[in-house]
Amino acid sequence: MRIVVALGGNALLHRGERPDAAVQQANTVRVATALAALAQEHEVVVTHGNGPQIGLLAVESEADPALSAPYPLDLLGAQTEGMIGSLLARTLHDALPGHRIAALVTHTLVRADDPAFARPTKFVGQVYSRQLAQRLAAKRGWHIARDTTGWRRVVASPAPERVLETGTVHQLLDGGALVICAGGGGVPVTADPDTGALTGVDAVVDKDLTAALLAEDLKADFLLILTDVPCVYEGYGTHDQHPVLDATPRELRLGHFPAGSMGPKTEAAARFVERTGGLAAIGALDAAHEIVHGRSGTLIRPDLPVG
Ligand code: ADP
Ligand code: MG
Repeated sequence: MRIVVALGGNALLHRGERPDAAVQQANTVRVATALAALAQEHEVVVTHGNGPQIGLLAVESEADPALSAPYPLDLLGAQTEGMIGSLLARTLHDALPGHRIAALVTHTLVRADDPAFARPTKFVGQVYSRQLAQRLAAKRGWHIARDTTGWRRVVASPAPERVLETGTVHQLLDGGALVICAGGGGVPVTADPDTGALTGVDAVVDKDLTAALLAEDLKADFLLILTDVPCVYEGYGTHDQHPVLDATPRELRLGHFPAGSMGPKTEAAARFVERTGGLAAIGALDAAHEIVHGRSGTLIRPDLPVG
């Protein structure tokens, strides 16, 4: 099978962990173990989140007195693709001796008139108390919103239209490589309607939606979304919480999951399954192999044809 894996940004940096390089390096070992088990049996493309990492770089850039303006999010996103790509490539190199591994900086085309620019929803950076988040928002012009465990900065997240390097990823896969790409949803760019010239945009594309698009364009069989919960729950966080073992896109869409976290995952899974007739699943990183074999996570399968 050809599998596109969308790895949560939290897999490399868990909530509340100090964002040190050493911490991320240690966490990649767990990631590599999970991915290596898949890559031994399947063609694998790995996309990853970058919320914690790009938030950290943005704070550093804003505080750097040598700069006349902080770096825009597109360039910070490119930095995280390089950094996380390298961390993953190194550990996978050790976990899969002899396997070709390529980490690619990729760009995601978005529309300049995407309404998402006026409505920031994507969480980046660390969790703050309400008071501190409000103070930072006033000082730095941030938008803030409540995440599951506290308050965080939110930035615009335009919809991905196309991954510019899809053809190159295809070729690398055909050459037997495991490809790491579209990190943080890819570096967001707009194309000039007349000349096609690319311009970076100050935003972060959702990695789950980019992964769905990439999976569709690469003709993948399976979209595997790995995160820090074992599956999708109905009534999440209430006394009446139930695991969703499997669902069709139509059933999943009735769930109305939160925009900054589970919403994009269920939407990505639903889109991929609807458009391709393939399978998708949402589950825990450590259970990656189990999920693909139908023994863990939430499986999203096509709706039965009507009539
Ligand atoms: P990632 O880095 O993997 O993208 P997110 O924080 O974006 O992580 O999304 C995973 C989080 O979604 C979980 O940690 C959980 O707190 C939250 N979540 C919200 N609603 C649900 C739900 N209905 N079922 C499971 N998890 C949910
Ligand atoms: Mg997320």
